[in-house]
Amino acid sequence: MNRRDLATYLTDFGWRDIDAGVAPPRAAASAALPPPPAVPVTGGDPHGAATLEAMAALLRDCRRCRLCQARTQVVFGVGNPQSRVVFVGEGPGADEDRQGEPFVGRAGQLLNSMLRAIGLRREDVYIANVVKCRPPGNRDPEDDEAGACLPFLWRQIELIGPRVIVTLGKIAAGHLLGTRAPISSYRGRWQKARGRDVLPTFHPAYLLRNPAAKAQSWSDLKQLRHALEREAK
Ligand code: URA
Repeated sequence: MNRRDLATYLTDFGWRDIDAGVAPPRAAASAALPPPPAVPVTGGDPHGAATLEAMAALLRDCRRCRLCQARTQVVFGVGNPQSRVVFVGEGPGADEDRQGEPFVGRAGQLLNSMLRAIGLRREDVYIANVVKCRPPGNRDPEDDEAGACLPFLWRQIELIGPRVIVTLGKIAAGHLLGTRAPISSYRGRWQKARGRDVLPTFHPAYLLRNPAAKAQSWSDLKQLRHALEREAK
């Protein structure tokens, strides 16, 4: 690890009090998720959308799960539609629900700083969530809610065609990789889902609560940077 890079990264977030040591990766994801319960899908084939715009239009009035009841709007996704990297979070919070864009609150500010730390701008990447509507009270999405939304996220990813997917936090990793293993057991270790490389890392909101985990997050970000650099050569 380049300590100067790490110092810049930490200072950017105002955290100067953590150990810069990086824990070695542990066991890979293993515990399998049970299949999501069936949900009453009311029309709309994710594969029917040939573009992101068409899919956004298809989902604007989505009523495929109970999250439609309390949301202000569907938070579809944002960023470069041809990005080499897609970041996937859990679901919109209050700020995102209000503004219609993922990761615009405190966690989003941190995500922006994380991107900057590896030379990326928010507009260079694509950012989406497992569920596109805010779970009330910021609870975790239920399996059936995620199950209703995931086919659309996968189609969104297919249309973007990224080289890498970065999952932010255990909910995104759990649903995209199909695991209930603790995220600490596989974060920072490359995984595969639907033929794509997936790098699971911590959620920025978790990093806000647990600044000590930033050293591991920095190690993950550097892996991402290296993967994108390798590919650019
Ligand atoms: N947390 C998420 O997982 N997604 C958002 O869009 C905002 C906060």
